[in-house]
Amino acid sequence: MFCKIELFAKQSIAQEDAEDLIWSFLCSLERNGQILKSYTLTKNENYAMYVTLPKSDSFDEKYDGVYVKRDRKRIKEIYDCILTPMGENVESGQYCGCKKRSAVEMQTYSRDQDSVFTCCDCGKPIAYYELPFPAESQEDYCLVQNWQENYSSMDMLWMNCLCDRYTGNQRVKLDSALNKQEIEIAEYMSKKLGYPVYYHLECDYGKSIKAENVGDQQIHICPKCGRIMERVSFSEDHERDVCKECNLSYDAH
Ligand SMILES: [Zn+2]
Ligand SMILES: [Zn+2]
Repeated sequence: MFCKIELFAKQSIAQEDAEDLIWSFLCSLERNGQILKSYTLTKNENYAMYVTLPKSDSFDEKYDGVYVKRDRKRIKEIYDCILTPMGENVESGQYCGCKKRSAVEMQTYSRDQDSVFTCCDCGKPIAYYELPFPAESQEDYCLVQNWQENYSSMDMLWMNCLCDRYTGNQRVKLDSALNKQEIEIAEYMSKKLGYPVYYHLECDYGKSIKAENVGDQQIHICPKCGRIMERVSFSEDHERDVCKECNLSYDAH
């Protein structure tokens, strides 16, 4: 949901301090997954934050992580916050509302704004704050968001027809630096959640990725263990080949 959050000052504060505080608040909200990464701050008589909430109640204090709590406390001392819903942001997907999940997939692509974790039961993205933090001693999702930014950049270079071996391999190869980072996060999250977090690999349409005919379908071979993968459907338009031993997934072709 796209929203305008206006800040009405209750006490005076120097412009520089006000903007430092508001940017810090926005950054903490983003890193806790309470707002998506494209946000804008405007200044007229008052400041207004234009943000996209993944779910209609994502701005609620009950989801605040430590950094959001710290900044919100200070914001509330100085400002009254008035939130006005502006409509649906059509660039962002509907978010998962499942009470229980059986598996999650980790995937992103160039210019993706949403959470990289998709619920395998409903096929929708999952708000970060509903998930465990992605590594020991982390209190936000910065690590995942950095990986997403790296992946998006790599994907964009590839899509914009740079098409060189480096960007291709980073997306496709199981042992590329980019995929190794993803796999580490997915494995950690899977341990914390107690169910599979599949890491999604990109296909390079037949160069190094193998598939086998099973009936009238071509099913991928797992690049890690060499077994035939399993064709599954996460939702209507979400067909995948997965290896449940290695927690890998490919788009089904
Ligand atoms: Zn779901
Ligand atoms: Zn495997």
